[in-house]
Amino acid sequence: MTTLWIAGRPVSGAGTSDLVINPATEETVASVGSASLEQVDGAVRAARDATDRWRRTPAAERADLLHGIANWLREHADKLAWQMSVEGGKPLVENTDEVGWAAACFDYYAELGRHERGRVLPPVEDRQLALVIKEPLGVVAAIVPWNYPLLLLAWKLAPALAAGNTVVAKPSPYTPLSTLMLAEAFTQLPPGVVNLIAGGAAVGEALVVHPGTDLVAFTGSTAAGLRIGELCARQVKRTHLELGGKDAFIVCEDADLSVAAAGAAWAAYLNAGQVCTSAERFYVADAVYDEFVDRMVAEAAAVRLGSPLAPGTDMGPVIAEVQRAAVERQLASARGAGARILVGGDHGGFDRGWYLSPSVVVDVTDDMPLMRDETFGPVAPIARVSSLDEAIARANALPYGLGANVYTNRADYAYRCLDELKAGTVWINDPLTDNDAGPFGGMKASGNSRELGPEGLESFRETKHVHWSISAERKPWWYPYQ
Ligand code: NAD
Repeated sequence: MTTLWIAGRPVSGAGTSDLVINPATEETVASVGSASLEQVDGAVRAARDATDRWRRTPAAERADLLHGIANWLREHADKLAWQMSVEGGKPLVENTDEVGWAAACFDYYAELGRHERGRVLPPVEDRQLALVIKEPLGVVAAIVPWNYPLLLLAWKLAPALAAGNTVVAKPSPYTPLSTLMLAEAFTQLPPGVVNLIAGGAAVGEALVVHPGTDLVAFTGSTAAGLRIGELCARQVKRTHLELGGKDAFIVCEDADLSVAAAGAAWAAYLNAGQVCTSAERFYVADAVYDEFVDRMVAEAAAVRLGSPLAPGTDMGPVIAEVQRAAVERQLASARGAGARILVGGDHGGFDRGWYLSPSVVVDVTDDMPLMRDETFGPVAPIARVSSLDEAIARANALPYGLGANVYTNRADYAYRCLDELKAGTVWINDPLTDNDAGPFGGMKASGNSRELGPEGLESFRETKHVHWSISAERKPWWYPYQ
């Protein structure tokens, strides 16, 4: 039976049950009891009770424990990846990678967390110590989506723990099983340091508004992020929001099109386009537009749609019927407004499973929802641009600012893009890679914080400034004034 993990013990969820459905077969995989309000409260209390011991655990000991979690993840990579493919529909190879990246994140923060905890300032007086001390915030509520369940949890959990916080984590109701399997890894930690609960938006909100949580670290849609931001503002509670995107992909006229089209296909179709940084709108220089489109059609047609568990599958189904329907609505609306779908956009011959074949769409305009709103599906709409000025202006025109891609070998073009694109990550000839040592996150409506790198640790720390005069002496500027 699938259980929650509260105060170092497995507990059956006493709230309503959520069915976990395999998106490739539409079969029910499990029924998971979500946390009742009392269990949410119990998890927050357990985390609160564990804060003092955990924040006082020497950082080198915490590092050992975090490396232990990384090791556990690697040892259980096959089982975890299989579970993620069954509940989430991502190909096994991608989920195996995901477990490895999650483990690497724990290793990275294990070391970063023991590197420093602030700085010493030159004091304003003699015989004074001026310290900037970094402290844990307390209890972190970590709420994550279904598209990269373990990786996005690791990006919060590892730095939060390394900084000395305790955590209550909630996965998406689409993909709770792989996350709840992590309970075994957390037996290495003192009870209450990590608590795992399950449930949907209502359980998430109970965590958000609970007076015992000090920071809400959320990855998900911009709509849910706005709601969480409003709820937290009422308590002046910190938020760490990683939200939606509509990433632009610019192809300059000098690009090597065989590489650019292959990179573009991967950027648009990876995980069936369900990556927050999926390339969702393409701006291609007029001179190479036709050839780029032809190459993209060939790339899309070559993607092997199939069972996430079968070797040789490039792309599985999308997460749910409602998600596929939303993508199909955008496609239909674009077609109704004059766009042409050159390839894909059908169910790929599958009559079971929420498959959607990768598509290439042309004759698109910026007012179409397909070019304006997040799609989160395997769709590559391609627009023609007459200059790099136009490409950058159109890329920057939306409220989103998560990532952006560029293909060019010209330094002047690359420089303009890295300087002018309003996005948290700019990938030049290197679509969609992450580096644990560097920050990830969005500008504008795509988020208010950064994960990974030293910035990702800083997001989970509070700052205290200490003035310490070594001996207590009367100060000359006190009363009475001269
Ligand atoms: P979602 O917003 O529906 O749900 C995300 C998580 O929040 C789930 O666990 C859900 O149960 C919970 N939740 C929903 N409403 C809530 C509320 N009012 N209070 C508390 N918790 C709530 O998103 P999703 O469909 O699971 O994921 C897809 C979205 O996530 C896309 O918009 C995508 O761009 C975004 N995303 C962003 C990043 C990033 O790093 N910026 C990464 C991955 C996904």
